[in-house]
Amino acid sequence: MNHYQTYINGKWVDGTSGHILYAVNPATGQAIGAVEENSLADTEEAIRAAKTSFYVTREWRDMDVQKRSDILLKIADMIEEELEEIARLESMDNGKPLREAEADVDDAVHCFRYYAGLIRTPQGGVCGVNSNFGPMHSYTVHEPVGVCALITPWNFPFLMGVWKVAPALAAGNSIVFKPSSETVLSTISLFRILDRAGLPAGTANLVIGPGRTVGNLLAESHDVDLVSFTGSTAAGQSIMRAAAGNVKKIGLELGGKSPNIIFADTDLEAAVEWAMLGIFFNQGEVCCAGSRILVERSIKDAFVERLAQRAEQMTLGNPLDNPDMGPLVSEKHMEDVLDYIRLGREEGACLVCGGYRWEEGECRNGWFVRPTVFDGCTADMRIVQEEIFGPVAVIQTFDTEEEAVALANDTVYGLAGAVFTADGARAQRVIRELRAGITWINCYNPAFCEAPWGGYKMSGIGRELGVHGLEEYQEIKQVNLNLTPGPAGWYQN
Ligand code: NAD
Repeated sequence: MNHYQTYINGKWVDGTSGHILYAVNPATGQAIGAVEENSLADTEEAIRAAKTSFYVTREWRDMDVQKRSDILLKIADMIEEELEEIARLESMDNGKPLREAEADVDDAVHCFRYYAGLIRTPQGGVCGVNSNFGPMHSYTVHEPVGVCALITPWNFPFLMGVWKVAPALAAGNSIVFKPSSETVLSTISLFRILDRAGLPAGTANLVIGPGRTVGNLLAESHDVDLVSFTGSTAAGQSIMRAAAGNVKKIGLELGGKSPNIIFADTDLEAAVEWAMLGIFFNQGEVCCAGSRILVERSIKDAFVERLAQRAEQMTLGNPLDNPDMGPLVSEKHMEDVLDYIRLGREEGACLVCGGYRWEEGECRNGWFVRPTVFDGCTADMRIVQEEIFGPVAVIQTFDTEEEAVALANDTVYGLAGAVFTADGARAQRVIRELRAGITWINCYNPAFCEAPWGGYKMSGIGRELGVHGLEEYQEIKQVNLNLTPGPAGWYQN
């Protein structure tokens, strides 16, 4: 079994908590790596290193922007060179099919290149001010925020990390990164690349440890200027409270229970295939998953029948062999998902397919759950309101456009949503009414590093990716230049 280390102030170190974290392959239940977790003292040291690099040595922050961009491009090239290896590790550690891990790493390459390019274009602007003080030139400049704590979940370990690391570094910040303890291996690969790419010591630090201790310290520390978090809404609320002490900037990318609305005029076959991608992609462990499928009554039975047929055909197996779905990330998470399936039955929903652990053949030692569809669901059911974060679709039926919108918005979340219809005007009307940050028309799931990503309501605060994703890691300073030097001449006497 490989032994891994964390990375603080430009050095590879063993954590000093005394606790060993094992990376477990969820397809087999076997440990594939071990790392000594960081203590709170290690975390303090990582914060101190980032603080010194930002406020004292200032090498990265003050680096000529073209040179900083060159280093980001070099990081992208290095990731691309190791794409196969990182994807394999990710697939074994997380359980996602290899082709999906490869697509994640490929997206990460583009994300670094995108932000490397973005910082080469001028930022800031000129404000046409109306001044009582005589002619003034008012303009804005963008500056890095300082020490950024980045905390990520386990469902897209490498990609979610890069969505934060790339813009945070591009903006000139120093970072302390904490991945989910469920999936640390690909993040360690990323930091090996950052190390070899020649980032100044202390610019990028990696700590590994539990959210309630190490993560909480990052959110609480008065030496951290910003915390960017992706994970559950409950942890996001805790981070928001912890961050209040020094009013640090926060970005929160949280959970969802997103509606996928299917009108009767749509191409049924195409809608079923997209709906499958919406809920079964990445084993349903997707924040924006189309987990609530709302179907117009006249096609509901045909839609559910076809969806169930296709779900039954899905293959489960070793993720490295590229089945349709791999295992869930851990035994604990599998039990949570199976508990929700039991709850759905108790609540009176009609189980159409799946609904059980899959232990056939090579899957017998892993945490596999068959793709599951519940029909006859109503808004008062917990399986309709709560995020299950697994391959479980709940079907609701509607009669009118207004009812579809009302059902779609009947949730505390507001991350994503989609509509399938042949009527272009209706598609636009429905999307306009959806209280969600990421929406699709006649497709589900595509995400791009050039477009902003984030939620309404309890799905989050702020945006990742795109130009907004860079601005999350920047302060905007207003500069006002007096064009007529001399006294203000404001007071009468
Ligand atoms: P989680 O909230 O349990 O953990 C996420 C990260 O936060 C981990 O690194 C964890 O160690 C840390 N953490 C937990 N409690 C903390 C605390 N009190 N203070 C500081 N850090 C803490 O989430 P998870 O189970 O890893 O991931 C699944 C969740 O993430 C789902 O709810 C999913 O919807 C959400 N998610 C959202 C997005 C998005 O873009 N909106 C993307 C991916 C996942």
